[in-house]
Amino acid sequence: MNTSTSHDLFTRALPLMPGGVNSPVRAFASVGGEPFFAQRAEGAYLYDVDGNRYIDYIGSWGPMIAGHAHPKVIEAVMTTARDGLSFGVPNALEVTMAETLTRMVPSLEMVRMVNSGTEATLSAIRVARGATGRSRIVKLEGCYHGHGDSFLVKAGSGALTFGLPNSPGVPSALADLTLTLPYNDLDAATALFDAHGDEIAGLIIEPIAGNMNCILPREGYLQHLRALCTKHGAVLIFDEVMTGFRVAAGGAQQLFDVVPDLTTFGKIIGGGMPVGAYGGRRELMEQVAPAGPIYQAGTLSGNPVAMAAGLATLELVRQPGFHAELEARTHLLCDGLEQAAADAGVAVTTNRVPAMFGLFFTDQKVDTFTQATACNINQFKTFFHGLLKRGVYFAPSAFEAGFLSAAHSEEDIEATVDAARHAFREAAE
Ligand code: PLP
Repeated sequence: MNTSTSHDLFTRALPLMPGGVNSPVRAFASVGGEPFFAQRAEGAYLYDVDGNRYIDYIGSWGPMIAGHAHPKVIEAVMTTARDGLSFGVPNALEVTMAETLTRMVPSLEMVRMVNSGTEATLSAIRVARGATGRSRIVKLEGCYHGHGDSFLVKAGSGALTFGLPNSPGVPSALADLTLTLPYNDLDAATALFDAHGDEIAGLIIEPIAGNMNCILPREGYLQHLRALCTKHGAVLIFDEVMTGFRVAAGGAQQLFDVVPDLTTFGKIIGGGMPVGAYGGRRELMEQVAPAGPIYQAGTLSGNPVAMAAGLATLELVRQPGFHAELEARTHLLCDGLEQAAADAGVAVTTNRVPAMFGLFFTDQKVDTFTQATACNINQFKTFFHGLLKRGVYFAPSAFEAGFLSAAHSEEDIEATVDAARHAFREAAE
């Protein structure tokens, strides 16, 4: 595979941008080698600047659930852009977006648009703190909620990939306000709330953890957290930046039938444009400025082009059978990967929910952070490169979930499993 143009671009980028990239995991540092540079994308495929095609299981880290460059999304963006890129006054698309989100996710009574998932989570904990008058927040080990100071404590995603779950630059006075819990441990949660319940403003969790690969909540776990928060007067925040509209039209909260107080969104609701949102119970959201005293603002928030891309994507996601079809494809892929690994004599397990999966190099069922980090990372690296050179792009990290889109056909999945058969054999050597 010729990747010389990508190599030249990376060589130019390295002295100018930290690690040559604008977001850490893109740099391939944890898997070795160099990233490829995208020229364009369409459907299930990414095309690099050297003309190579990759079946893409990242989908820009989540937003592209309808497939890349979906004609309806592109048309919505082009049409809207012709009328102006940003107004700084309200526009009708923001209202339609708020109506759409609150209709699709019943726990949202009010919503505020922001520009990224990080902004959404930062704002949500501010609301939790402002509304309760308490300072501490609880997060789960291995969960990632963006790069806000309070969240870079035992964080997942790139922080975990690079072995930097606690970042320099986060004042300890602030980090000390973040309490952490092991994911899926009911007793630890009970004990923490028993000890600190009256100091805890809120608990934030990825209801399906997609930033330490893909970990599902154990039966009753989210319900237990719901009960603890209610009992101790803490705000339960579901971070659905990744799972929102992906695993079900109403997100993970619909899948597991748990009602959080606040929810954060990003990715899919922008259809590939920079967007985030947070929302939830009316009495909490009415405390946000200018309705209330908790300050939060944004020059580009509710940007019309971003709203148009998000609305067009959500329109596709709302179609009957959308998630059922994605679920079937996810099973097809994961069953195929498990079989291919078994044939190659490589121990592998998968976790899956509709349109989202985790592949673990272990023979154990994985549902804790400790298990996720104990998997065979070297085998993963060989597997990753084995796929890449055969034109299949999985996340360049053992701690990121994989994503399917509506554009991934059965043929794409067959081709992926075929490539995986070879890549597993190489990983077995
Ligand atoms: N929350 C979760 C669950 C995420 O997966 C991410 C990003 O991957 C974020 C928050 C941060 O979103 P953003 O990268 O848009 O700031």
